[in-house]
This record gives sequence, C-alpha cells and structure tokens, in this order.
Amino acid sequence: MADEMPGWSVETLHADYRLCLREGRVLYDSKTEHQRLRVIENDSFGRILTLDDAVQTTEGDEFIYHEMMAHTPILAHGAARRVLIIGGGDGGMAREALRHDSVEHVTMVEIDAGVVEFSKKYLPTLSQGAFDDKRLNLVIADGADFMRESGDRFDVIIVDSTDPVGPSEVLFTDTFYGHARRRLAEGGVLVTQNGVAYLQGEELTNTMRAFKALFADWTCYLATVPSYVGGPMAFGWGTDGAARQTDLATLRARFKAAGLTTRYYTPEVHLAAFALPGYVARLLP
Ligand code: SAM
Repeated sequence: MADEMPGWSVETLHADYRLCLREGRVLYDSKTEHQRLRVIENDSFGRILTLDDAVQTTEGDEFIYHEMMAHTPILAHGAARRVLIIGGGDGGMAREALRHDSVEHVTMVEIDAGVVEFSKKYLPTLSQGAFDDKRLNLVIADGADFMRESGDRFDVIIVDSTDPVGPSEVLFTDTFYGHARRRLAEGGVLVTQNGVAYLQGEELTNTMRAFKALFADWTCYLATVPSYVGGPMAFGWGTDGAARQTDLATLRARFKAAGLTTRYYTPEVHLAAFALPGYVARLLP
C-alpha cells in the first residue's frame, strides 16, 4: 500500500512480489465510489496512474500497451469501422483507436467518471484530445451491463480493464465473454487485458478456457510493458473470423495506408507477438 514506505508507492497486486516506485510528487490521491485513484511522478516512468495501488499506466511506457492492444486487432481486421473499449478511463486506448481514419465510431464504456476527469487533467499526454473527438461516444457505466444490454455490434472490442479484482472482476467471467461475442460483428475481434503470464497465469488460463468454448480462433499475444512487472503480459484474442491469418505483406500495406507513427507496434512485431514461449503456451487449455 502507498503508506507502507513513505516516499514510495508500493504495488501489492501480487502475493509474493511487490513493485516499489519512488514518489517524486503525489499529484492526486483520492477515492471515488469505485476505487482509490493516485497519480504520482517518478523519474523513470513519468506520471503514473494507480487504481487501488495497482499500476495502471505510466507516461513512460504506456505506448507499448496501447499500441499493441489497439493496432493489432484493427490492422488484422482490415476494415474496422466500429470499436468498443471497455474501461480505458485514461484515454490512451481511445487515442490509439482514433488514430485510424477508417475507424468511424468508438464507444468507450468506463465505470468510473473520476478516472476520466482526472486523467484529462493530470495525464493529458494519454488521451491527447481523444475525449474531444466527435467519433468518441463515452458511456459511464459498468462494462458488463453494457455488454449484456447493448444491441450494437462492433468490429473490434478491446477490454482495457483493471485486474480481476474489484469493479473489473465481472469483466473476466464466462458470462461477460459470451455477451461480448454477441456484440461482435461478422469477422469481429475481441482482445482482452490478461495480465503478466508468469505471475497471473491462472487469469490467462481462465480467459482462454472461455474463449476456446466461444471462438473458432482463440489464443493470446504478448508484449513486455516494463511497469507491468514479471515479464511479458498477455492479451486474449478471440474471433470467428480470419483476422489472424492476415499476412505480413497485407499488414505492412495497411500499416502504411493508416499512416501511423508508432514506437512499439510494427507489422513484424504484430506477427511475432503471437509466437508463444512454452511456459505461456502451456497456460492455454
Ligand atoms: N492499462 C491498464 C491495465 O492494463 O491494467 C488498464 C487501464 S484503465 C485505467 C482500466 C479502467 O478499467 C479503469 O479506468 C477502471 O475504472 C475501469 N473499469 C474497471 N472495472 C470496470 C467495469 N466493470 N466496467 C467498465 N470499466 C471498468
């Protein structure tokens, strides 16, 4: 917890492993009805958002997570017009999805308005104006309720949630994934934040077990985000379409046509991200 080591933010997400981040300045520390929000400044990572003391995103390395979670499904799909983001309150995922001129509409369902409001103020480099984009429809609601009750269909669904504790717990259930599948348009792709495989393997296995029952094509892909300690993090991938069969030449053409400048994602990294080391592959059912 933040108070255990004065001057340090201590992440206690994992039972046997703690991440300590020196607090240059504490810019914000408050509780909403859902969670404790903190923004601290750190010399290595810049501004850091924590929710219930778990690192959510940092100015320094957020590009890795947001680029890989947004561009991988959108470029694999090739004709994504409608994108749904569950969570994503800091605005980084919406920023990356909206960089695609081909994306006509992004619905973002965030449970905690407090995260959106203070991210705009304290972490403006994450959203970079995404909240003002006329293509964005921001819905303040529980993503599980939206997924159950919405009649909309989406080409890409990105579950950019916190870890499966507290308000996010419902976003890691078979029921939620079943509703998400019904929200996918033909050929649509669902991607999910599934934590660091070495430390949260059971979370990945549970999601993959649900995806195996729901989708013709299910797997995960990897990226290493320095502030998510413990090695590569996994992104769940589920679709009934052929998006994952998209070849390198096509990805390169789409990437070029999108005119994206990125600091992590490339078409080559995209394809390599699906090559799973043995210890991760063995977590898949
Ligand atoms: N990049 C981060 C990570 O990998 O952990 C996630 C960032 S984003 C801040 C996570 C967001 O999920 C938070 O804004 C949180 O409020 C939101 N969230 C948690 N549970 C939710 C739910 N049931 N419905 C919608 N949003 C939810």
